Amino acid sequence: MDTWFPRPDSPDDLHTLGPSGELGPGELFDHLTSPAAIEWRDKVGVSSPADGSAKSSTRLLSSRRWVFKTDTSQASLDMVSARAGLLELVALANRVELWHPDKRWFLLRTRSGPLDPAREHWWPVSVCPQLRSLRELRDWATFSERWAQVIGFALERSVADRVGLDLGPANFGLSLDQQAGVTDVECWYLDDETYAPLELEDVAQAIIARVPEWPDVDASGWCTFGSYLRGLLEPLQLQPRRWLELRERIADVPLAPRWHPQRGALLQGLGRPRAIANSSGVWPRRSPQRTAVVADIHANLDALEAVIDDAERERIDSWLLLGDVVGYGPDPSACIRLLDELPELIGVRGNHDHMACFGLERGINELARASLLHTRARLDARERDFLLALPVELRGPDWLAVHGAPIDPRRFRAYVYELNHRANLEHLLAGSRPHCFHGHTHVPRVVRMGRSGGGIEIIDPAAGVVVDMGRPGAMLINPGSVGQPRDGDPRAGYAIWDRVERSVQFRRVAYDVAHTRARLRDEGLPETLAARLALGR
Ligand code: ZN
Repeated sequence: MDTWFPRPDSPDDLHTLGPSGELGPGELFDHLTSPAAIEWRDKVGVSSPADGSAKSSTRLLSSRRWVFKTDTSQASLDMVSARAGLLELVALANRVELWHPDKRWFLLRTRSGPLDPAREHWWPVSVCPQLRSLRELRDWATFSERWAQVIGFALERSVADRVGLDLGPANFGLSLDQQAGVTDVECWYLDDETYAPLELEDVAQAIIARVPEWPDVDASGWCTFGSYLRGLLEPLQLQPRRWLELRERIADVPLAPRWHPQRGALLQGLGRPRAIANSSGVWPRRSPQRTAVVADIHANLDALEAVIDDAERERIDSWLLLGDVVGYGPDPSACIRLLDELPELIGVRGNHDHMACFGLERGINELARASLLHTRARLDARERDFLLALPVELRGPDWLAVHGAPIDPRRFRAYVYELNHRANLEHLLAGSRPHCFHGHTHVPRVVRMGRSGGGIEIIDPAAGVVVDMGRPGAMLINPGSVGQPRDGDPRAGYAIWDRVERSVQFRRVAYDVAHTRARLRDEGLPETLAARLALGR
């Protein structure tokens, strides 16, 4: 047999490292020596747009949905040094989730090889389920979403794990059976080489390199990509200064003049798209005095309308939205449109809002899953833009607003609860903004602690209770849930924050629960969701 890809003579020539998953030496041997295995000679040393551009020393072999990979420049005459390199990769794979969970590395022995035809050689080989490289995606809508997610993934690896990835689209793969746009992207690194953490310049170059590769994508396509990317990266908490820097880097990458309109549109998309996404702490237009604070509306239009009526009777002049506009309920579009009309509204993104734009998290419960698929199918581009534009945190002069918990790096995933009250309050005391409005638990509650630490006071306010915000110290303030209360009271919950009086009043408003339940049934959503509304649980 011609040995373009090195083959073992017997299973004894294979040494697996660590757990070998589905493939033990016997299975590996069968794959490597199978007459049906295909050497991918045409994928090596070429650079075609539809395919990988592997180095000419790379060797690829595919056998029944598994891809084997080695490199002639990595073959070694002694087992110890070949093994040392692989152990580093295995250690990295255990520390950071870069590669497909079924990817394995092993050593393969051949009787001769490129270094010396008379001596045995040791080859480091990887085997991975066959994935579809991003480079193979030819549809811009799919590619651009996946590409944005790859950038987010790579930036997160850089920041959280200090590992830099090569941002070429051929280096990232998706499962072949992945349902586009439905599940949170499961994307893996295909290359074995890692680098120093990414600089914004690397990211800028990788983004701009795609412009000439997609000549048919016009300015509006790039603008949409820019705002999608911004929405996706926002939870990684790139500071405003870093955003500015990323945009400057993108503007600086050399690019032929014919592509400048696309770049301009991309930069426009990456800018803050709407007044609602105002995290600078500057309240829009005029200074508000009475602010309605609403959280966890969850696509419950009847409840939202009842709250708006009540708040208008109470002469509020502004709105603070704490996230989860959608999810669970029957009317996501109508709720977004109604909020979009409200005067002086600013807000943050909830986990459901995020998933409605970017795909479902792994391990999400069935109810949330069913309702989010329903939501995703109904939102139009404008409604999705409204959610996309929501930042994950807002900062006022002495207050913060998040959906989940101020100590959560993403701000919308973690809950504020008994075990982390102190950590959250101490976090607030350590900063310059002692008051934090949040949602996510669907239970109205104030948790506070004095300026010098010490005891924690928990207030579970009944309807109408007014809590003083003038006392020194830190406070976590949850107005309750508009659309899916979970404190046993089915009435819609919200709060009125009086900035002059320095107080917050907790309110409950009855609404037509029976009508909302009927709407849930009309929309074919699970019966459990309807039952839950009547109980307030
Ligand atoms: Zn919620």
